[in-house]
Amino acid sequence: LEVSGLSRSVPVGGFLSRSRRTLLKGVSFSLERGEIVALVGESGSGKSTLARLLARLDTPDGGSLRLGGVDVLAEERRGASLAYRGRVQMVFQDPFASLNPVHTVAHHLERPLLRHGRASGAELTPRVHALLESVGLTPAASFAQRYPHELSGGQRQRVAVARALAVEPDVIIADEPTSMLDVSTRRGVLQLLRGLTRERGIGILFITHDLASARHLADRILVLYAGGVVEAGRTADVLSAPRHPYTRLLLSAVPDGADFLRAPLPVKAAAGPVPPRGCAFAPRCPHADARCHDTLPAEHHPAADHVVRCHLESSKGVSNDAAVPS
Ligand code: SF4
Ligand code: MG
Repeated sequence: LEVSGLSRSVPVGGFLSRSRRTLLKGVSFSLERGEIVALVGESGSGKSTLARLLARLDTPDGGSLRLGGVDVLAEERRGASLAYRGRVQMVFQDPFASLNPVHTVAHHLERPLLRHGRASGAELTPRVHALLESVGLTPAASFAQRYPHELSGGQRQRVAVARALAVEPDVIIADEPTSMLDVSTRRGVLQLLRGLTRERGIGILFITHDLASARHLADRILVLYAGGVVEAGRTADVLSAPRHPYTRLLLSAVPDGADFLRAPLPVKAAAGPVPPRGCAFAPRCPHADARCHDTLPAEHHPAADHVVRCHLESSKGVSNDAAVPS
């Protein structure tokens, strides 16, 4: 999956107003087969907006989305969206809301199997049982007959994962899949996701406000602030040598293993509106100077696969926007 320059804004102040609020601005990243990329950010940073765009529940103002090299938005305009939905599946935050209380677990899994032509007739029940086994819900025959209210939160989330797997996707977008689960249940669901990427070569975009889970699970991390990626790189690089003041703040805010982004930040609290120009983090940044309030920082590459958007980097590294010597 290749996301390039994805943007989204919404009108504010009614029909006659021309002002818009930016939810996402120019987000770019790629997700390979068998890779987990964590998208980390506070609530309001644009995580769910991005998830909705990737799930094709909403349309971006600009940018492109490619899957296996194919331009998805162009394909969609030609009416081929079902192909994309069969390859990119969602797992949402609230497993109770995403399952229908009047249907059994088996029904929830049969529907996508039939709809996407993955199984029918006599193959259906064995396929449902195999899916339940693959997410650790055994004995499968017993779980298949149950209703959502007869399952724990962790079991419901496993059903949601099984439903996503039913269509044999290439990519799973998991939007805060464990934030409503307790810590011990959470670990099991994270391990399940980890195993799926390895065994089936599925790429997972793991959207979370919890840096501890991201550290545990992800190969790479993207840090989102006010709709833009401020730092991205391999998990070990970003978390052991964070470069962006916002990433550093997140890491210093809370003791190891805690739910980082739920804790208050140790700077002037309320974020306030994002400034129209300059660095979006400037109102909260302890290092902000006049340039930060005025000019959008360029992308800098302090190391291979490590991207940082901060003016402080221009004195340390080579800017992406600088002329490349031949
Ligand atoms: Fe802070 Fe300036 Fe860097 Fe933004 S560009 S993070 S305000 S130092
Ligand atoms: Mg959200």
